[in-house]
Amino acid sequence: MPENVLPNLFRIEAPLPNNPLRAINAYVVLSDERNLVVDTGMNQPECREVLEKGLAALAVDRTRTDFFITHFHADHLGLTSAFATDTSRVYFNEPEARWTRRFKAADFIAGMLRRARTCGFPDDRLAHALQSHPGIKYGPLQYPEFTVLRDGDVLTVGDYRFRCIETPGHSPGHLCLYEPDQRLLFSGDHVLGDITPNISGMLDDTDMLALYMASLDKIYDLDVTMTLPGHRRAIRDLQRRIRELKAHHREREQEVAGILKTGPVTAYETAARMTWDIAADSWEQFPIMQQWFAVGEAMAHLIHLQQKGEAQKTTVEGAVVYTAV
Ligand SMILES: [Zn+2]
Repeated sequence: MPENVLPNLFRIEAPLPNNPLRAINAYVVLSDERNLVVDTGMNQPECREVLEKGLAALAVDRTRTDFFITHFHADHLGLTSAFATDTSRVYFNEPEARWTRRFKAADFIAGMLRRARTCGFPDDRLAHALQSHPGIKYGPLQYPEFTVLRDGDVLTVGDYRFRCIETPGHSPGHLCLYEPDQRLLFSGDHVLGDITPNISGMLDDTDMLALYMASLDKIYDLDVTMTLPGHRRAIRDLQRRIRELKAHHREREQEVAGILKTGPVTAYETAARMTWDIAADSWEQFPIMQQWFAVGEAMAHLIHLQQKGEAQKTTVEGAVVYTAV
């Protein structure tokens, strides 16, 4: 059953089977005019069923309902076209709306293969990784038409007035929603409570870590007493959580800088030597998708160190090798 978080605001927690994230939060804001659903879920039957039941329990009329999607990952966007009706608006960010308009599955897979090789992923693991990738397995069947929102745009739903805040880092165009009167923040995957948002260099050479840290600073001084994230429970102390996340990435940066000092490495080799909070005895035994996200995070750190002038890169047989400067 949906959890009543605030007046006219509910949380539906829908399961993500076989995924370490375990579940996704969809939030429903009810009003006499139009309702708003913040994030949907992965295109998996178990997830869809719970969301359907939750919306039915709240008597949500989907023809009077709009959707706000924090970012393009499959666990947030995957079911949007299944729930949106002809009269629903789907609010989304500009860079990722552009990305979905150009999206072709075959190009996406080819691009990911190329990028994974760049990161030093061994070929024999790659095919397996792509088969398991949630973006490929459980992504949307089709992308809806998006209504683009930008920094500062306001969405009014009943008594709530939500302001969009662009927070790139976890994804290129991630958006949060801030309600100043209620001191409420929908943080998507920008800030999560007991798990660390994945910052990845798997897309391209953009310094996502620098963007992410700047986006954490951007929301640090907001007057917020309740942060509603994309996964797990509400966060009571946003500033403290931001400090923890920044400290985590600074520690990681030092760890990666230390690995670099021992000799030239690819992102894959770096990830294999970093410490991870994953229940496996060795790097070889990591589930393949965990390896994928770990390599993405290692790559993000290597790109960041290179941008700071602490590493340089050369390409060896298609893989990018980083060396300490
Ligand atoms: Zn997510």
